[in-house]
Amino acid sequence: MPKFVYDFTEGNKDLKDLLGGKGANLAEMTNLGLPVPPGFTITTEACRHYLEHGNPPGGLAEEVDRHLAALEAQMGKRLGQSDDPLLVSVRSGAKFSMPGMMETVLNVGLNDESVHGLAEQSGDERFAWDSYRRLIQMFGKTVLGIDGDLFEDAVEAAKDARGTKDDADLRAEDYRGLVERFKAIVREQAGRDFPSDPREQMDLAVRAVFDSWNADRAILYRRQERIPVDLGTAVNICSMVFGNLGADSGTGVAFTRDPASGQQGVYGDYLQNAQGEDVVAGIRNTVPLTELERIDKDSYDRLLEIMETLENHYRDMCDIEFTIERGKLWMLQTRVGKRTAAAAFRIACQLLDQDLIDVDEAARRVTGDQLAQLMFPRFAAGDQGSDAVKKLVRGMNASPGAAVGKAVFTTERAVELAGRGEDVILVRRETNPDDLAGMVAAKGVLTSRGGKTSHAAVVARGMGKTCVCGAEDLDVDVKGGRFTAPGGITVKEGDVISIDGSSGDVYLGEVPVEDSPVVRYFEGGLAADGGDELVAAVDRIMRHADGRAALDVRANADNPEDAARARRFGAAGIGLCRTEHMFLGDRRRLVEELILAEDAGQRQTALDALEPLQKQDFEGIFEAMDGLPVTIRLIDPPLHEFLPDITELSVKVGLAGDGADPQDRRLLDAVTRLHEQNPMLGLRGVRLGLVIPGLFSMQVRAIAEAAAARRRAGGDPRPEIMIPLVGAVQELEAVRDEARGILDEVKDATGVDVPALIGTMIELPRAALTARQIAEAAEFFSFGTNDLTQTTWGFSRDDVEAAFFSRYLELGIFGVSPFETLDRDGVGRLVRIAAEEGRKARPGIKLGICGEHGGDPDSVHFCHEVGLDYVSCSPFRIPVARLEAGRAAI
Ligand code: PEP
Ligand code: MG
Repeated sequence: MPKFVYDFTEGNKDLKDLLGGKGANLAEMTNLGLPVPPGFTITTEACRHYLEHGNPPGGLAEEVDRHLAALEAQMGKRLGQSDDPLLVSVRSGAKFSMPGMMETVLNVGLNDESVHGLAEQSGDERFAWDSYRRLIQMFGKTVLGIDGDLFEDAVEAAKDARGTKDDADLRAEDYRGLVERFKAIVREQAGRDFPSDPREQMDLAVRAVFDSWNADRAILYRRQERIPVDLGTAVNICSMVFGNLGADSGTGVAFTRDPASGQQGVYGDYLQNAQGEDVVAGIRNTVPLTELERIDKDSYDRLLEIMETLENHYRDMCDIEFTIERGKLWMLQTRVGKRTAAAAFRIACQLLDQDLIDVDEAARRVTGDQLAQLMFPRFAAGDQGSDAVKKLVRGMNASPGAAVGKAVFTTERAVELAGRGEDVILVRRETNPDDLAGMVAAKGVLTSRGGKTSHAAVVARGMGKTCVCGAEDLDVDVKGGRFTAPGGITVKEGDVISIDGSSGDVYLGEVPVEDSPVVRYFEGGLAADGGDELVAAVDRIMRHADGRAALDVRANADNPEDAARARRFGAAGIGLCRTEHMFLGDRRRLVEELILAEDAGQRQTALDALEPLQKQDFEGIFEAMDGLPVTIRLIDPPLHEFLPDITELSVKVGLAGDGADPQDRRLLDAVTRLHEQNPMLGLRGVRLGLVIPGLFSMQVRAIAEAAAARRRAGGDPRPEIMIPLVGAVQELEAVRDEARGILDEVKDATGVDVPALIGTMIELPRAALTARQIAEAAEFFSFGTNDLTQTTWGFSRDDVEAAFFSRYLELGIFGVSPFETLDRDGVGRLVRIAAEEGRKARPGIKLGICGEHGGDPDSVHFCHEVGLDYVSCSPFRIPVARLEAGRAAI
């Protein structure tokens, strides 16, 4: 039978799957000899069993009995013992941290008898009754599902009765009264009494933690963070220590480095005479951790020592939760800390300099997604001073970036307005887990209370969302839909505000945004050694990634400007130049002429008009990518895309009656003729080339002539001609032979020989499955995974995202859209088959990918595993793909 319960002395940090992050790290700290209150962890396996079968696995109760007995023996008191009770906390702890998403019950073991024992032992009756009412409150809310406001309202009423606004003024008898009131609330709301049996309290709390895995907000958070749905949570049962036993007690959170910048130092918040959740919830304002030195120097020194031990042991920035009980420091949690993208790069390089990690590890410690975040725009320096904007206040810079939007004060409004396509900033006094949907919908989050470790800050950083928190000078009136800033400025719902998550500044009005320094560095406008620590760190890690990468990174670009930018970003060529993009704008008319041509002569005239324009485009691109391969894809989309909309044109011609413009009539005939029920599966790609004589030839000629012209001008053009939507080798052969003929003709006419590879896209399942035959006629393959995903799943790429993907994501049919991250099992299998078969027919055949997946981190890793030669992605994603190509090889 599996073991379902582990004492803290039995686990270690590598058992996160089984013990969850919190449990595994509590065990690790215990084994490091750090002061962790004794306890044990119920495994995720037990949770999974419970969620599947609706009851805990057989044997769990007995195992818990044994561990509890051992804990009681160690502590020298029994759970809930009436004269000196052992009290425990019951906390969730999944493999991946889900801040505030799931449940915690503290002070388990208190009842009408043991509360007296606690009063006696602590010598503090007020504390004992406060602890008891907290238990009933948390238990009522978490385990019995009672609306938390009912308890809060009762506390408010007690304060009113005492004539105060501060919890600190409540006395023992007030709390005693609240216990009675809370018990009555439980009876009224839950139809049962609050259980006085300590073991029953514990067992019910454990079940509630299991159940919280499937709470709505936890499900939403997991979807956001792409955490698998079936992991379950562990439950940690830990002997209680108290931070609310007076001025010599307290509780706090700390980072071993600044999670926003990576700077070394003492970062954290401390709250004197308070219990656990008070800090994270941002309910009361904390003092900076440095104050602890003044309050309790011994504990402060010990804490710094432990922080150093942890950093050296984990070889990474850690965050910790601690409690001081009457001058004794206890560690309640640690984990490798969440950090901003900038801090991730800085910290990786700092640890590298400290010889704590090597450079491979430094590259592993950052991600392409983090790099992408650093490339987001920020507020333009100086523009904050313009008349159009007014600085309201400076809060804490909790999560970087620049966000502009209409102020909204509730999650519901945030979701509603964002759903209409509006940018919003969610403004709250503090956030709690129920605000998650609003935080997802908003461009940024602003709170007036709570520190850098408050819920808003932690969750926003995790999402990469801009956040300013703890702007205490703002008076937020959620009910009134407004906030007031110093100087009496009132901002109402709908007013545009700008928040700067890097400085903490908040402005009324719209502040213009500018490129990030990281982008300027990639653009070549900012030197790596120019003094910007972040840029230097990015440079260092990028260089290493480039050195490691087996994959080249090319760009999807179809004009000289994008090509040049891509090259500055480090592109090793162009992997996809979509030529149809060159037929838009003014040139659409020329394409119309081609489609309307009634005979070969008219068609040729139209093609002749297009050719020089194409040639000019290609010359510019070859020049920008001189010496690097440029894969030019012949025209792909259905021709009707270049014609007016059939409904609008029918109405126009119909309304004009006999007076209709003859050109419109011809157009309508053509649109009607070309109209397809399923254009994505219709006359497009190679099929167009085979049906419209001269179209592909014109493009190939333009490519060959452009290359010849570049060569004559001293350049080094490297064209590759790519045929789209091939399903059978015969299609490819026909087009290839025609193209070869044109290339030879141009060579003869110009006297310049520019070799050009001719290859194909693999974007249909049949092409993948017959890749061996196709490779006989193709000098390279480029996987068009947009169409390959569309045709493999049978999902219309233009419609599904809106139609039903959100439901599919909800149901867990996939964790992320297959158009975003390559579906390894299905589409990926076809890619593997085609790569293997292609190599069999043509060893060394060049293989790339040019669908959107080429810039997606997970898909880049897949391409590396399959052994492709390159990925191709939009210019802005190139640094991300370069980094991930390097990380994939480490
Ligand atoms: C593809 O299908 O993956 C591709 C790159 O081509 P397009 O997106 O132009 O259809
Ligand atoms: Mg395609």
